[in-house]
Amino acid sequence: MSSVSKISSGAVVVPLVRRLPAPVADVDLNFCRNPACAQYGLLPDPFKRPNGSPPAPPGVPRGAVPGGKHKEFYKCPACRTTSRVKNNRAVFEEHERVRRLSDIGPCVPACRTAGCANQDLPVSEHPDLYQSFGKTKGGDPRWRCKGCAKTFSTGRPARRHKRSDKNRLVLDMLCNDLSLAKTAKISGLSYRDIYRRIGFYHDQVRSFVSRREDFSRIDFAEVGSRFATDSQALTINWPSRKRRFPVVFQHLCTAHARSGFIMEASFQLDPAISPEEAEAQALAANEDQVSTAFRRHARIWTKTEFDAYLTRLAKAAGLPQVEDYGLPATGSMLRYDVMQFAHAMRLRDHIGETDDPLIFVMGGTLVSSNRSRQSSSPRYRPGARISPSSTSRRQ
Ligand SMILES: [Zn+2]
Ligand SMILES: [Zn+2]
Repeated sequence: MSSVSKISSGAVVVPLVRRLPAPVADVDLNFCRNPACAQYGLLPDPFKRPNGSPPAPPGVPRGAVPGGKHKEFYKCPACRTTSRVKNNRAVFEEHERVRRLSDIGPCVPACRTAGCANQDLPVSEHPDLYQSFGKTKGGDPRWRCKGCAKTFSTGRPARRHKRSDKNRLVLDMLCNDLSLAKTAKISGLSYRDIYRRIGFYHDQVRSFVSRREDFSRIDFAEVGSRFATDSQALTINWPSRKRRFPVVFQHLCTAHARSGFIMEASFQLDPAISPEEAEAQALAANEDQVSTAFRRHARIWTKTEFDAYLTRLAKAAGLPQVEDYGLPATGSMLRYDVMQFAHAMRLRDHIGETDDPLIFVMGGTLVSSNRSRQSSSPRYRPGARISPSSTSRRQ
């Protein structure tokens, strides 16, 4: 409309349209991702600049953002390297999710009985609702709820398993490539018992990690500064109980090279959301026509996308159609590139504060976070952006 958009100079103010997605929190991944480039990590001008619009601020890289829908890329003006445009929000959300997984926090004593009027009301704030009830074997104080008469303590409730003498045996078998069938046969346990134990190991590992895993005081110059990241394709018979064909999920792992300590491991599944819920989210946002990098929801595959993927797999396997699929019963597949970036950001959470130079090897390619070609020793800059290598196999 001509009645608006005029300023005193007479120039028409054209509202700037983004060619790169807006940052979310401090996550902005759309820059030259060639670590050897002088412009590595420098955020380029995010706006389209049609004729008549103000120029980009001086000193801000401009480059170009060509490519069709879902395939936009940023072309660096300095090194001509192209970097696919990424969805900042999806990476931010996935980083938050995996961060919360390891953050189990202190256990607040409270009644945990579902349906009890005192459920989740902490002892510290409501002492009148509880009575002191001695101590646990482990020495933790115990209380009894006056509402439901159940007892509880500060310790986390250990999952119950009858034969704890077999824990070590079962763990060894699981960690040494034995099938569940063989594990069940040798240990004499049912599948149900084995799955319960896996849950128990998971609890133990999370508890250990939250208490003990602190890299802030590690001198990487002394213990070794090389890290190796690699991905494994895990083949799962997912789609059907009757007729099976393999569905591949990626597992991404970064190990400290000298000690073999696993710094971070990621699996391409979010068990907390179903493909149907993802579909509903996407429908509600009504962004079918929006490019993936600019969507509100782009972290996981929707049911439609996953079904299309299964149909392709079924065709390749010579099956006429995809039947209802069973396992895993819940969960959605993550977009692999989103998972890679979130993995890199978790590494930065763990070791980003160190002053020591760090070396990352990714899928056989040496990637340092050095921004200068001249420096002989690769140096990780605290606060610098880490970029997963461009070895993304599937997005
Ligand atoms: Zn560049
Ligand atoms: Zn209660």
